[in-house]
Amino acid sequence: MTLEVRDLHKSFGGVQAVSGVSLSVAAGELLALIGPNGAGKSTCFNMLNGQLRPDRGSVKLRGQEITGLAPRRIWRMGVGRTFQITATFGSMTVLENVQMALLSHARRLYDIWNPVSKQDPARAMALLDRVGMAGQAARPCGVLAYGDLKRVELAVALANDPSLLLMDEPTAGMAPAERVALMELAARIAREGGIAVLFTEHDMDVVFAHADRILVLDRGKPIAEGLPAEVRRDARVREVYLGT
Ligand code: ADP
Ligand code: MG
Repeated sequence: MTLEVRDLHKSFGGVQAVSGVSLSVAAGELLALIGPNGAGKSTCFNMLNGQLRPDRGSVKLRGQEITGLAPRRIWRMGVGRTFQITATFGSMTVLENVQMALLSHARRLYDIWNPVSKQDPARAMALLDRVGMAGQAARPCGVLAYGDLKRVELAVALANDPSLLLMDEPTAGMAPAERVALMELAARIAREGGIAVLFTEHDMDVVFAHADRILVLDRGKPIAEGLPAEVRRDARVREVYLGT
């Protein structure tokens, strides 16, 4: 199993943000973590990538305990993430951004005498091709449309050769058609690359269309888990989340 999470807990002061969350994601599988605002989704993501230390519980990546490790170490072990606010360098080109990420993956970022421009662009171009951005490789990231930036960000995450990809609301701020396209891309990348993907998404049509399984949180607690068809039928989910 790529990701195995057992009984995660996190509180902030008096607020129990996450309370007893367990989940697993296999290679090539997409698990959607859903729930109303404040359900604890981002807190879960932040514990998985090391930004927050869990109060209790364990996180295993390919059988190895990573609970409480620093973000940088977790990233090095092959956990990629996309950010809600894009994390590309606006004045650098699309290609340079991906080359930079490849450099970083090679852990040579500290080698200041090895400028990004001297990196072999072939691998970066191959990654851009995977996300449908090869045609815009020479443009500065700063001029890209939002949906295209998200694709570049995906290429940047893939440069790290992740076994697990964490996507916290990857489609926030996107038009519906862009949303569908980005999730289709994420699904294809997961299947082709055998990458485990954990994502959150507000648009239920997108979730039901692309998730292999869904875990529903409400006020920090898991209330349902299963195949999209099962979760859609679940009475408690309908009441708490779908409002029907
Ligand atoms: P979601 O991503 O599902 O909307 P969050 O994980 O962001 O939910 O938040 C879960 C709960 O934890 C909310 O009540 C939120 O206010 C609280 N919370 C999240 N982060 C912090 C923090 N850094 N400090 C205090 N409370 C927080
Ligand atoms: Mg959130």
